[in-house]
Amino acid sequence: MDVFDSITSLKGVGAKRAQALGRAGITTVFDLLTHYPRTYLDWSHTYGIGTAPLNENVCVRAFVGSSCREHIIRKGMTTYSFDVTDGKDVMSVVFFNNKYVKDMLANGEEYLFYGKITSMGRHYKSMTAPRFVRADSGTTLKPVYPQTSELNSNYIEKLIKTALESVGIIPDCIPQSVRDDYCLMSCDEAIRNIHFPVSADYLSEAKRRIAFEELFLLQVGLSRLKIKSKKSTAYSLQKDFSGEFFSLLPFELTGAQKRAIAECTADMSSGIPMNRLLQGDVGSGKTAVSAALIYNAVKNGFQAAIMAPTEVLAKQHSDTFSRFFEGTGIRSALLTGSVSQKEKREIKERLSSGEIDLLIGTHAIIQKDVVFRNLGLAVTDEQHRFGVNQRGALGSKGKNPNILVMSATPIPRTLSLIIYGDLDISILDEMPAGRQKTETYVVGFDKRERAYGYVKKHILSGRQGYIVCPLVDSEDDDAEPDSERKASVKLYEELSTGFFKGFRLGLLYGKMKADDKKSVMAEFAAGNIDLLISTTVIEVGVDVPNAVIMVIENADCFGLSQLHQLRGRVGRGSVRSTCILISDLKNDTVKDRLKILEATTDGFRIADEDLKLRGPGDFIGSRQHGLPDLKLSNMLTDSEIIRETHFAAEKMLKNNPALEGEENNLLKKRVNNMFSKGLVLN
Ligand code: ADP
Ligand code: MG
Repeated sequence: MDVFDSITSLKGVGAKRAQALGRAGITTVFDLLTHYPRTYLDWSHTYGIGTAPLNENVCVRAFVGSSCREHIIRKGMTTYSFDVTDGKDVMSVVFFNNKYVKDMLANGEEYLFYGKITSMGRHYKSMTAPRFVRADSGTTLKPVYPQTSELNSNYIEKLIKTALESVGIIPDCIPQSVRDDYCLMSCDEAIRNIHFPVSADYLSEAKRRIAFEELFLLQVGLSRLKIKSKKSTAYSLQKDFSGEFFSLLPFELTGAQKRAIAECTADMSSGIPMNRLLQGDVGSGKTAVSAALIYNAVKNGFQAAIMAPTEVLAKQHSDTFSRFFEGTGIRSALLTGSVSQKEKREIKERLSSGEIDLLIGTHAIIQKDVVFRNLGLAVTDEQHRFGVNQRGALGSKGKNPNILVMSATPIPRTLSLIIYGDLDISILDEMPAGRQKTETYVVGFDKRERAYGYVKKHILSGRQGYIVCPLVDSEDDDAEPDSERKASVKLYEELSTGFFKGFRLGLLYGKMKADDKKSVMAEFAAGNIDLLISTTVIEVGVDVPNAVIMVIENADCFGLSQLHQLRGRVGRGSVRSTCILISDLKNDTVKDRLKILEATTDGFRIADEDLKLRGPGDFIGSRQHGLPDLKLSNMLTDSEIIRETHFAAEKMLKNNPALEGEENNLLKKRVNNMFSKGLVLN
């Protein structure tokens, strides 16, 4: 039997079972064999009946000392019980509605029973519905499988046993050379041991091998996407207009910005579309880099588009580009959800006829009916806010256009190998000159008044500031965004009638109407609002250089990277800015964590700390990344394996990019299977 055969080819799997298995995602024997145990019961430490702790899972070694007693308790409820003994003490084991145990436990034989012992009265002990195996079975670790209402763990275990007996040697998809390089056990050995470990050591090697395999397949797949996307493009720069663009700017670009622009224009001139990530900390000047590329694209006769995750940010980009491109004749338009139907229609017409050179917008610009005449450059800002698929959607608006995605979220390096495995990367590791480091202070609740006083002082000297509202505890029955809104409204009302009475306060939260948001942001940018009370909607990209102070309430509710992003809203001009994090300092862990922000402004270091403290969820919410599911590997704990597989995959594809040769057929098949579900790139 072949491992890729249908599950129905297994002995004992009828149509009904096959359906139940199908609903659990198991349609082939291979699916079954990669249905890994959720955990294992440790049968290696056994207790005597008298010495076993009560009410916790224990393994007891005992002989069956009676035949089965059957009691009908009521209709539909029958118990089956046995007395068992370890030679010293006696207990009963009880099963409900499970007539099969009658034949499975034999009087006089020794078994291992796994379950909780309860004691009623002084002498009577019992174990209810234990799992059991014969004592001479040699089992030390018993697998426990993810169950469904239709399939219990024991059934799956039995089926896997049958499958393992009938498949022969399971073929290996990892080339021998890679297995040798990284000391991996064979696929066959790994799969057999993940289900029925010979010992704890074998189990951990099996897990390593399987995690390696998953990540290796993922990386090979991503690398191949990267290679595949290197098809040719008509949108190649004939002439480099970067120098001309530089003279339009009111400032001198940093070395890092110039380097990134050069890397991108080299890609864009190569005849193969650019597919690049621009990563740079908040305030590092990614917009100017994208503007240089847009300028180049338009001057070379192509259309360009930039997509931002929020209306506020799209509007801001629109303003920035209008300033940069003033007098150049570049025709741009802003397309967001709140643009009127009539205007939308007009924009779409002008876009498809080529009367618009640059389209700026939110995801409104990837709607089906938005058609470009010749989109040559697609930029996605704050990429981490979009799924991989949305990133692709903008690119698919053109014929192999150049693609740039920008992100301010410094991603721990190991994770970026996966999340951005299909992209080339440019990094802005230098801040514009004259930028002052934002001073950060972590203070307790008792210092709130003082913090506000400090804000007031700044406002009185003509500066502006932010107060960021706490995330509200999710215990609150309300959906989170709404409770955030409430918190911000409440704080706004409190402060505008209290501490900041007489000042010009603004309020900004996510659920506000787009128009209202826009006008609040415009007023703030124009200096008509002194203090903006806001939820985390200001996190992304907002740029008001005169805002020099920020207070973040209940800072401990946020991830460090997120706080770092928020903090990036200040410190955007030449004045030294301040960020005050208010939090409960009685908790030492909280305090130590926040102190990291006092100590450093290095986004990568902060991201690494976040990864350690909070896991990878902040970086790769499953909703966002669009990557295939990983069953066994863990992006957090397997960073070593991520690195290893990255190098192994690169090395392999460098020598053989198309994975030619029969020996690679299985590898190709597995990669394609993995990527057939979910991931659509460009
Ligand atoms: P981010 O990388 O966070 O998107 P922005 O592109 O919004 O950063 O830039 C932040 C601010 O820095 C903007 O006001 C921008 O005009 C300014 N800026 C960008 N590059 C430079 C530079 N080389 N010198 C001075 N200011 C710059
Ligand atoms: Mg930005």
